[in-house]
Amino acid sequence: MLKGKTALVTGSTSGIGLGMARRFASEGANVVLNGFGDQGEIESLRREIAEQYNVQVTYSNADMSKPDQIEAMIREAESTFGAVDILVNNAGIQHVAAIDEYPPEKWEAVIAINLNHCFYTTHYALPKMREKGWGRILNVASAHGLVGSAGKSAYVAAKHGVIGLTKVTALDTAGSGITCNALCPGWVKTPLVVQQIEAKAKQKGIPAEQAEKELLAEKQPALEFVTTEQLAGYAAFLCSEDARTVTGAQVQIDGGWTAQ
Ligand code: NAD
Repeated sequence: MLKGKTALVTGSTSGIGLGMARRFASEGANVVLNGFGDQGEIESLRREIAEQYNVQVTYSNADMSKPDQIEAMIREAESTFGAVDILVNNAGIQHVAAIDEYPPEKWEAVIAINLNHCFYTTHYALPKMREKGWGRILNVASAHGLVGSAGKSAYVAAKHGVIGLTKVTALDTAGSGITCNALCPGWVKTPLVVQQIEAKAKQKGIPAEQAEKELLAEKQPALEFVTTEQLAGYAAFLCSEDARTVTGAQVQIDGGWTAQ
């Protein structure tokens, strides 16, 4: 379905981004991976995806909190592949603390990575999409783009911002063959959430399995995690011709979290 297209997925060395990168490769797209991690493991991953799906896969170690590195990543992708046809803004971090105890440097980091990076990638990638008259921008927001949770000021502010940015990107590109949508997942069991399960278990002195059940029961009525494969499937749909008039949407994939 995506043969000849190039998908750049920020934060794709792990979790949701990696799931999406694999799915796009399986649909025939060339892929630009990005994110942190062990360089040897990332190189094995890069090679494995390229060989498994017979597509070209490159890797950028650009830091999504640094606008100059973001520009360089987009330019490099364009010089290798011609354009970034599918841009997935997925890199993200979390920090949990009450506002009065929230370290200002953590606030700055969460806003830079979870919100600002989505502006910079889009800003630099859009001109080539416009030239080609086709593009798909997917912003990985969160249920926390629609509702709040205690202790997550920076994350919730950033994700609400991502949804606002998605709407304006959709309006600025309307009628040009480019769409922009936000995915709003509930709990997905990735390293980002495992960290929160472990913190909960430690804080309450309970086993991790119990902390996991409590985490789901508190927010997600379906009582099961959303999977990276389900999210990747939705992302692939948004890149299809069937979705050409879906733009500016916030898609909740959250086991009923935000229906409450
Ligand atoms: P993860 O920790 O598994 O992956 C995060 C990725 O971002 C990694 O590849 C990491 O290296 C990369 N990254 C972090 N900081 C970076 C930086 N400065 N520059 C470049 N890359 C950076 O987490 P995940 O759960 O897969 O999260 C992916 C996205 O999904 C995030 O935006 C997160 O907010 C969102 N999300 C996650 C959940 C969930 O339950 N896991 C729910 C809703 C939304």
